[in-house]
Amino acid sequence: MKDVYDCIVVGGGPVGLWLSCELRLAGLRVVVIERRTQRINQSRALTIHGRTLEVLSLRGIEERFLAVGKPVRSGHYAVLDTRLDFDIFDSRFPYTLFIPQETTEALIEEFALELGVEILRGAMAERIVSESDGVTVFGTNDRPFELSGRYVVGADGARSLVRSETGIEFEGHSGNGAWLLGDVVLASPPDTPLVSAFNEHGCVLVAPLGDGAHYRIVVNEADDRGRTRQDTVTLEELRQATARILGSDFGAHSPLWLSRFDNETRLAKTYRRGNIFLAGDAAHIHLPAGGQGMNVGIQDAMNLGWKLAAVAKGTAPVELLDTYESERLPVGIYLRDTTMAQSHLITAFSARGRALRGVFNDMLKVPTINAYFANQVSGFAVHYPDPLPGFGAGRSTLVGGRIRDTPLRLSDGTDATLFGLLSKGQWLDLTISEGTKAERPDWLHPHSVVEARGIPTDHADTLGNIGALLVRPDGYVAQTAVGSSRREA
Ligand SMILES: Cc1cc2nc3c(=O)[nH]c(=O)nc-3n(C[C@H](O)[C@H](O)[C@H](O)COP(=O)(O)OP(=O)(O)OC[C@H]3O[C@@H](n4cnc5c(N)ncnc54)[C@H](O)[C@@H]3O)c2cc1C
Repeated sequence: MKDVYDCIVVGGGPVGLWLSCELRLAGLRVVVIERRTQRINQSRALTIHGRTLEVLSLRGIEERFLAVGKPVRSGHYAVLDTRLDFDIFDSRFPYTLFIPQETTEALIEEFALELGVEILRGAMAERIVSESDGVTVFGTNDRPFELSGRYVVGADGARSLVRSETGIEFEGHSGNGAWLLGDVVLASPPDTPLVSAFNEHGCVLVAPLGDGAHYRIVVNEADDRGRTRQDTVTLEELRQATARILGSDFGAHSPLWLSRFDNETRLAKTYRRGNIFLAGDAAHIHLPAGGQGMNVGIQDAMNLGWKLAAVAKGTAPVELLDTYESERLPVGIYLRDTTMAQSHLITAFSARGRALRGVFNDMLKVPTINAYFANQVSGFAVHYPDPLPGFGAGRSTLVGGRIRDTPLRLSDGTDATLFGLLSKGQWLDLTISEGTKAERPDWLHPHSVVEARGIPTDHADTLGNIGALLVRPDGYVAQTAVGSSRREA
């Protein structure tokens, strides 16, 4: 007899693993198929941005990451000298967390296993067949397997099999140039933990890996001598390139990982075909500038998870699934465009190019412009303007935006936090002013909602005159109601 899952997730990278957590939290039977027998030992995504930390906090597991990562209160845009100021964020996480991707994946996998997600390692998906009532995944581990699910999500990375089997175009351009990357030990580390340089010879970034021992060096040489990302890298090449641009290689030695990457940029034409969805790198790839790919992918998973779970359980209309693409594709388009713009600025080595960078540098000194880009890179700027099916138009500017975490005094006198009330992946219907209710659609099942009465004991300004609000499981405000000026729990 064939195994039938509610959802089969192809790919056990950070995005597939996070999606599986969201689906399992909602009670779905979910399996992750991962071709690798072991996690890869590469730092890749070095930063977890503030909004992703909020996502982890929404499920109560942020401390696991904070315990091993290194908070950094600024970021770069196109390696410009004026850094993005993350201190301005109205969040518990006014920083980005430096933590290697292998650690991030390990911690998400730990959570997935605690929730009871089934993870099949060493299992390679090879063929996807879509039928009217579900999808079958054929593949091989030590022997051929066949798994059936009502839904399949391709979180299988840049060369996604699910995307190609589904015939979804991956539009964009191939890469040019070849950035060098080395995770190394520095015999003479720089005085400041973050170093960046840009001149006619090229561009260098040096940043700590967060493990207390290693640094990442990224180099883009003005003359890359026709190298492509397939060419191997040697420590000597990394050292010489760094020294040419910076005047020193900091005595780099003992590389953990040496690699090359480029600016190939592509976006899936659609994020869904029938019962098959794409998330993460399967849907978008780009130059890893500003540390956004994994972060945006985890946000994709956070958006899709509760919607897929609700429709699979029959507690939401199928139209809800359309909103995955309508909400997340615009984020993917912005990601594509802003990383292409950064790619252009990062390679502007000519005198004219450097003059242009000077102009951008000055612009980033304007606090509102700096804040705009800081919010974009960190994921805080994401806003979902259109109402979900069954909802009326938003009544306040809060609707469609993320809600910040807020301590609350509940009507029974106990203390709670807004994120704590969302931690089981349900909706939150919060009454702040006695007798005020946010409008709910008919389909929203009472079992899917945590109802609470309470008043914020801090950050009350964020809520203005709001007397009640309905928050989605992913922490975005779905509806609000204006309350009386006197708030009572
Ligand atoms: C040098 C570098 C630096 C980066 N820095 C950052 C950063 O600082 N911040 C950031 O947010 N992002 C960064 N990124 C991007 C980030 O690494 C990716 O966006 C992220 O890995 C995407 O996660 P994913 O789960 O979508 O895909 P992946 O991590 O690619 O995972 C896909 C998984 O699917 C599996 N798989 C593939 N095909 C199959 C199949 N047929 N059957 C079964 N399993 C399959 C793969 O083995 C893999 O484990 C960086 C990338 C690079 C290269």
